[in-house]
Amino acid sequence: MRALGETPQFTPTLAAANVQGVGNAKERSVIKRGKPEGPIRWTTLGNAPYPRPDEPCSGFLLQAGGANVLVDIGGGTLAALQQYIRLEDLHAVWISHLHADHFSDMPLLYYAFAFSEKPLRKIPVLAPVGWAQRVEAFVKSSVEHKMKSFFQVIELKDRGIAEIGDLRIQARVVEHGVPAFGLAARFGDRRLAYTGDSGPCDNLVSLAKGSRVLVAECFSREIEIPSVHLSPEDAGLTAAHAGVARLVLTHLGPGLEEDEAIERAASTFNGAIEVARPGMVIEA
Ligand SMILES: [Zn+2]
Ligand SMILES: [Zn+2]
Repeated sequence: MRALGETPQFTPTLAAANVQGVGNAKERSVIKRGKPEGPIRWTTLGNAPYPRPDEPCSGFLLQAGGANVLVDIGGGTLAALQQYIRLEDLHAVWISHLHADHFSDMPLLYYAFAFSEKPLRKIPVLAPVGWAQRVEAFVKSSVEHKMKSFFQVIELKDRGIAEIGDLRIQARVVEHGVPAFGLAARFGDRRLAYTGDSGPCDNLVSLAKGSRVLVAECFSREIEIPSVHLSPEDAGLTAAHAGVARLVLTHLGPGLEEDEAIERAASTFNGAIEVARPGMVIEA
């Protein structure tokens, strides 16, 4: 069984993302294996373009079968994450692209692991090419800081699949002017897709096909061609072409109000539409 019916290209590094069975049952959450049952939970930590008093940048907690994955790690998300889980219960980090609003708390996650009061297990961090060097340049000091000391350094590849317990996360390349990926999460027969940041493209549709829920960025108030972001109409069209039941708009750009975004997305999509807010939990 393969996500989206496509042939996954396992790479040696992606295979390292299989972290089933890690952890000490007494102290840490354990990923249950066996028949995948139950929902995929997607909690919005934040989706603002810069940290606001009441909302971090883009970051989401993806959970299924006991696995806890932080998807995107923009400014403020590391603090918000710990309102839901302890860092020792985090099993993986998956980062769509290296723009600051999706990535800027990564140096601080490194600090959390490097300076933690009690040792944290090594977890995979999956992100576009060069992510580790970027963080190492940021935290550079008189002592050597290497990401591989605390993380499994994994660079995302198109169609690559990471397995965290029975949760499978497939990456697809999307259109954002920099190396960027969307994801399709699959747990048993449950599926959820997330666009990351992207302009309209075929890969977004194939990514979301078969999913009940599409979490789509909606950063463009204006309709631009070509674009590295989705307008509400684009998000609606992507959802319609993919045949999802529910569209969750995230990462609304400046000047785009919730009501306007929903109304405009509804002009191209007939299903349920809502706007993600911090603390909002979706089950797929
Ligand atoms: Zn971006
Ligand atoms: Zn963004």
